[in-house]
Amino acid sequence: MTTSEVPAPVSVLPGVTATGAPRGIDDATLDRITSNLLGPIPGAAAPESAGTAALTAARTTSPLASTSGLPGPTAGVSSAATPFPGAPIPAAPYLDEAIHQSQIPAPASIAAAAAQTAAPGAATSVAPSSAAIPASPYFDAGIHQSQIPAPSSVAAAAPATGITEAAAGPIDWSPPLPANVEIHDGSLPRLFDDAPLSGKPPQDGAPSYYFLTPILATRPEAAAPAAPFQRRLFDVNDIRRDFPILEERVHGKRLVWLDNAATTQKPQAVIDRLVHYYSHEYSNVHRAAHELAARSTDAYESAREKVQRFIGAGSAEEIVFVRGTTEAVNLVAASYGRKFLGEGDEIVLSTLEHHSNIVPWQFLAEQVGAVIRVVPVTDRGEVLLSDFERTLTTRTKFVSLTHVSNALGTILPVREMIDIAHRRGAKVLIDGAQAVSHFPVNVQSLDADFYAFSGHKLFGPSAIGVLYGKKALLDEMPPWQGGGNMIQRVTFEHSTFADPPSRFEAGTAALGPAVGLGAAVDYLERIGMQNVATHERALLAYATEALARIPGVRLIGTAPEKAGVVSFITDKIPAEEMGKILDQDGIAVRAGHHCAQPTMDRFGLEATVRPSLALYNTHDEIDQLERAVRRALQK
Ligand code: PLP
Repeated sequence: MTTSEVPAPVSVLPGVTATGAPRGIDDATLDRITSNLLGPIPGAAAPESAGTAALTAARTTSPLASTSGLPGPTAGVSSAATPFPGAPIPAAPYLDEAIHQSQIPAPASIAAAAAQTAAPGAATSVAPSSAAIPASPYFDAGIHQSQIPAPSSVAAAAPATGITEAAAGPIDWSPPLPANVEIHDGSLPRLFDDAPLSGKPPQDGAPSYYFLTPILATRPEAAAPAAPFQRRLFDVNDIRRDFPILEERVHGKRLVWLDNAATTQKPQAVIDRLVHYYSHEYSNVHRAAHELAARSTDAYESAREKVQRFIGAGSAEEIVFVRGTTEAVNLVAASYGRKFLGEGDEIVLSTLEHHSNIVPWQFLAEQVGAVIRVVPVTDRGEVLLSDFERTLTTRTKFVSLTHVSNALGTILPVREMIDIAHRRGAKVLIDGAQAVSHFPVNVQSLDADFYAFSGHKLFGPSAIGVLYGKKALLDEMPPWQGGGNMIQRVTFEHSTFADPPSRFEAGTAALGPAVGLGAAVDYLERIGMQNVATHERALLAYATEALARIPGVRLIGTAPEKAGVVSFITDKIPAEEMGKILDQDGIAVRAGHHCAQPTMDRFGLEATVRPSLALYNTHDEIDQLERAVRRALQK
């Protein structure tokens, strides 16, 4: 099949079915909030609810205790590398869940907010209920601190087994979930769903808020007092101070960085690590007998081990450093794909893929005569397991899926999808470019064959990324680029190749960026990815609600499971134009097709405005965004 024959995502695929019971909010209410008076999506089928079962499987923790087994550089290399100050400290707990829950408006207030859309010109100050939608005090240090729950509620919200700040020994790659919180593996609680996952009602007196309960409902039996602990709180103001660029002024306004899906800003810890590396450790790696080569090799390979722990891989040999997600996908398509796929074999993608998870497969399909099949999405931007199952056939050899859609924020149920694909004998690559910065990911518990992400979207430098591959698969794969570092022995007649990961790292690697990525991972582990997820979940709910209540705004992508992204269009101002207007207010968002044109096509759009979140964003910034969009639409 040629590129031009690759089926269009919507037309060639099984139609969207209207099966499955509605989850959480009913469709009528959802439509009122999300369609926001703009009418139906062009060419869209009837709204549909997910057919996926509740994703309540318990998370497994990383096998941190398992050693990397990496024989290379640290053995046989001097350990005299200058130790970098600032080794990871235990993760900070997110203690103000209670605060957040109390800040999330109740269903009635959301309905009222939606009703406000009928009143064009309603000012920002027009809130349906000042009690229901408080003026985001979260970012206010004074209020924030004073709202820290009393010890008993802190104990209830805290992990039952925690690490104290003074504790020695290895740091868990991701802190355990608070004992009273249920969350499905690798994703966040549903935004548009209040159906109980646990089957247990919220505790008496617990508020039944629209977004967060009962998924976060306190289970009475889990409320036993936890051991006393001392930790740093997750304080977004603290976090912000770690990112010098957030002090920057743009067009005379304080920068509001809401373009995190494109790239993330860098904490001082990463900047300092790079300065230290280039000031005290820099050399090419692996090959020289001198001290700096040893230091540099230690720094580079310890970054690999950090990444291994961060994503829960079984060994550092399964971590291949690449330039980014794009290169990782190209590597797998070129190496695994050319060896194991042939004429008539099928590669399954979802409609929500970034171009970098489409085009490399088109190259492969053209080269080997394989066929690309595409899983559709619903009008809310969900990928249904039933549609996925229908797209797989006996010819399916490879499945490549985004973990989180960069255009809509949808979290795909990748663990279930991987299970299904494996049962059909297919291998699976997960594009984690938009996932790893938002919530804990464990590649072993997902059972992903390959997992890819980019350092620059994870608060690290650009030009570095990661391809995780199961060792048994990497071992079977041929090199895809030839050069130094990837060989065992070279003669003019024949060459033999190094074991993975070196086999896939031809030439001099992005050494500094890799070291910087290691520092970014340290930084995130210090905060705790579960804390990041908790903060962002509340922020995403807040942003969704703030934008949905603006007259003339229509949200694109309202799947029940989302992370990081709120995409929208307006009835008056084209997306690119809105991006420029927001920029004048110092608010950086992306406006365009987000390198996801098939997703845009699905919704009959050319572009959306896409504010995207990260751990350092605040409720205040969302308020600014809401005000700026309202102002623009009122002109
Ligand atoms: N996949 C997704 C989901 C993305 O969002 C992106 C970048 O936006 C990529 C892949 C490509 O990442 P990179 O350009 O860092 O290779």
